[in-house]
Amino acid sequence: MTFEQLELITPIQKALKEENYTTPTPIQAQAIPHLLDGRDILASAQTGTGKTAAFAIPILQKIAQDRQQHRGKRPLRALILTPTRELALQIGESLSAYGRFTQVRNTVIFGGVNQQKQTEALGRGVDILVATPGRLLDLMDQGFIHLGNIEYFVLDEADRMLDMGFIHDIRKVLAKLPTNRQSLFFSATLPDNIVDLSRKILSDPFKVSVNPVSSTAETIQQYLYQTNKSSKNELLLHILQDEDLDQVLLFSRTKHGADRICRTLNKKRIRAAAIHGNKSQNQRQKALQDFKEGNVRVLVATDIASRGIDIDQLRYVVNFDIPNEPETYVHRIGRSGRAGEEGISISLCEPEENSYIRSIETLIDQKIERVADHPYPQTERPMTAEEKKEFDKEKAGRRQAYFDTRRQNSGRGGMGRNPRNGRR
Ligand code: AMP
Repeated sequence: MTFEQLELITPIQKALKEENYTTPTPIQAQAIPHLLDGRDILASAQTGTGKTAAFAIPILQKIAQDRQQHRGKRPLRALILTPTRELALQIGESLSAYGRFTQVRNTVIFGGVNQQKQTEALGRGVDILVATPGRLLDLMDQGFIHLGNIEYFVLDEADRMLDMGFIHDIRKVLAKLPTNRQSLFFSATLPDNIVDLSRKILSDPFKVSVNPVSSTAETIQQYLYQTNKSSKNELLLHILQDEDLDQVLLFSRTKHGADRICRTLNKKRIRAAAIHGNKSQNQRQKALQDFKEGNVRVLVATDIASRGIDIDQLRYVVNFDIPNEPETYVHRIGRSGRAGEEGISISLCEPEENSYIRSIETLIDQKIERVADHPYPQTERPMTAEEKKEFDKEKAGRRQAYFDTRRQNSGRGGMGRNPRNGRR
């Protein structure tokens, strides 16, 4: 499934390309067609599933398509209610990004800050309003906002809204909304009180539920190689001796790490290319193309750069390091085993990362298979808290000494001298 197949208008397609989105996430693929058809939706999806784009794209498209009718005046046509200021800002950014080639305008309002900028923005006219409940009601009371023309209403993170005690505020907002509207209801969980609330808001909704992040790992064979930090390169080369691993997506925590791994592999005549934030859009696209066509065997990616990557039937994912956030591990290995294909993930773990593995195993609720039979077993132990403190102190000292020398040298010999050899 591609975004083209979702019949999106050209300005939105173009914006999604710029965001590097190639494939809709499951919630987007399932929800967008129904939303474009005008149906209400009850969606069980949490952050990280692409839910924001799932509701933002159809609303932008519908408003962009019939803005002609409303030429000149700009009544408020969509309201997105969300529990926190952070979420409100994120949604506003997403609307601006996906709608950048349309004429649709949005603004964001939330409490805890002076209202003047917000009321000025409202005064200039907006199509979509993203709001937290308190400030919304406040500005409604003051007459800055009227909900009489709302055609699209989104309740985002409904379960969190109720947890935060917003039920009365939500009811007050609902009372002001026109009955003839399309409503979109998103919640990470659907306990009884949430389902009850959804019934008051939705009419004959399309229901969609996407798996929380922890469950995607079940279909993938996962292997863990425990080793020392200093032997990771050799271990990787040893693993890549197996020619079955013909197309490997390898994750590195840092951009420099990614470049280093590429150099190590290329030296051993293993064709590798890196994609990360320091590479230009063209370089990234070329690397991806080479990888897809089989000219590059190992694509080395950082987590952020990997987001837009979608390769059909990718079998192998290698974690050169273990992410400290278990969700990141699940996202990484979820890149393999697409479209019903069996995926295989291989993780290289140094002593300091053992504890990350424990958190991952708790999240995915399964034990990752240890590969004991390899030439570079883990012989070192993780540092104790005391040793770690000492290590960090030494490291900070070395950094300071480095910068001190740099400063002295730049004082004598001008800026930009290398402290080791005095050369520029
Ligand atoms: P959300 O679940 O809405 O918080 O989105 C999670 C992250 O996924 C955001 O950083 C989005 O920019 C990103 N994202 C959403 N849809 C896609 C897509 N189709 N392809 C790649 N990234 C996406």
